[in-house]
Amino acid sequence: MSAVEADGITPVFTATRAEALRRLDAFLPRAGRAYADGRNADAGPDAERSVSALSPYLRYRLLVEREVIAAALDLHGPHGADKFVSEVLWRTYFKGWLELRPAAWSRFLAERDAGRDAMARSGGLARAVAAAEEGRTGIEGFDDWARELVAYGYLHNHARMWFASIWIFTLRLPWALGADFFLRHLVDADPASNTLSWRWVAGLQTPGKTYLATADNIARYTSGRFSPRGLAAEAPSLTEEPLPGPRALPGPEPVPAGRALLLMHPEDFGPESFAPEGTVVAGALAATGGSAHWPWGPAARRFVDAAAEDAAERARARFGCDAAVLDGMDAEGVVAAARAAGARMVLAPHAPVGPVADALAALAGPLRDAGLPLVRQRRPWDEKLWPLATKGFFPFRQHSPAVLAEEGVRL
Ligand SMILES: Cc1cc2nc3c(=O)[nH]c(=O)nc-3n(C[C@H](O)[C@H](O)[C@H](O)COP(=O)(O)OP(=O)(O)OC[C@H]3O[C@@H](n4cnc5c(N)ncnc54)[C@H](O)[C@@H]3O)c2cc1C
Repeated sequence: MSAVEADGITPVFTATRAEALRRLDAFLPRAGRAYADGRNADAGPDAERSVSALSPYLRYRLLVEREVIAAALDLHGPHGADKFVSEVLWRTYFKGWLELRPAAWSRFLAERDAGRDAMARSGGLARAVAAAEEGRTGIEGFDDWARELVAYGYLHNHARMWFASIWIFTLRLPWALGADFFLRHLVDADPASNTLSWRWVAGLQTPGKTYLATADNIARYTSGRFSPRGLAAEAPSLTEEPLPGPRALPGPEPVPAGRALLLMHPEDFGPESFAPEGTVVAGALAATGGSAHWPWGPAARRFVDAAAEDAAERARARFGCDAAVLDGMDAEGVVAAARAAGARMVLAPHAPVGPVADALAALAGPLRDAGLPLVRQRRPWDEKLWPLATKGFFPFRQHSPAVLAEEGVRL
């Protein structure tokens, strides 16, 4: 167990690709039957995990979905690895789903702000939210997960589901404030997986279908550690105006030939597998996100800052060019690095809906004014799989094998 840092967080994830690969190797033997049978069990933060705990590495793309799925298939075959492969594909699916419906993200932000305003007006709501976040509700398990989240920046998937369900249906707190609490503390804080999972528990994502946490289920999957009393007996679905239908994704941006500055960012710290065609990477920057640090809290920020250092070093090794960390995403810093590298454009992996995409969008104008087009490129994995996320996960999963085969991954 790592030591507690001054800010009260116990860092459990070392933000390097070497560590990601070490963890992947160590987990792989358990990615087959053992994962399928044991993944719902949450034995607590100090016990051996039944799951991979790879999410921070996948979320910031120190590992990519493709390589993790391919490694599990190599070892366990399509049948044995099926459950693990499906879970990793949930990440791809959620990213695609939100990319096709960005209104779900803006609606979350608006609801979170409305929730904060309501807290400012109502001392009762503010006190109830504070008690929930500080683990002072008296609800067994829930209070422990609140403290575990703040201390470690990670919760098991089942604990996330129980927590969100109790927040919404037992404590009757606004769902968007709970989703915000997660974003401020999770190391793997992710606009797509977090927002859409909270919406799913609340009955917004699959209208009318909610997730009800029960004491029996919690006791069973926590090996009897928790058996909370007084949980809501039913979970009436929240409702909303239907979201606009899925948009068509814009086609790939043409990449002009020539020297480029590669701009990595927290949505993609994977220079070894980002393959720009027709360009020479003449320099690289790994941006920490700057104001786009928001909505991440200190645990995620610490991870992102260290991951940026590691990404710069890997870019240097792969492209044989200068590579530096840029604290923030300010145009001046990017223009200066591009000029120093003799680059004619800035090439960035595409950032899906969220604060990093917003920061990149804000950069495009100033770069254009400096004569440097900003070219954002989706990886082939995203390019091919995201457009399939028009409906539920199961049709997406059904259609994915053909696309995965094109990516050299056979299910
Ligand atoms: C309310 C709620 C909020 C969540 N918020 C986030 C979040 O902010 N960031 C985040 O990365 N995940 C989030 N998840 C999804 C999931 O809980 C985590 O990805 C998972 O627990 C990470 O642990 P792991 O790596 O050990 O997962 P494993 O079980 O080992 O799964 C392997 C990988 O598959 C993917 N995966 C597994 N389950 C899911 C899932 N339900 N949805 C999407 N991808 C999945 C992840 O990349 C994960 O690393 C949330 C789930 C819920 C219910």
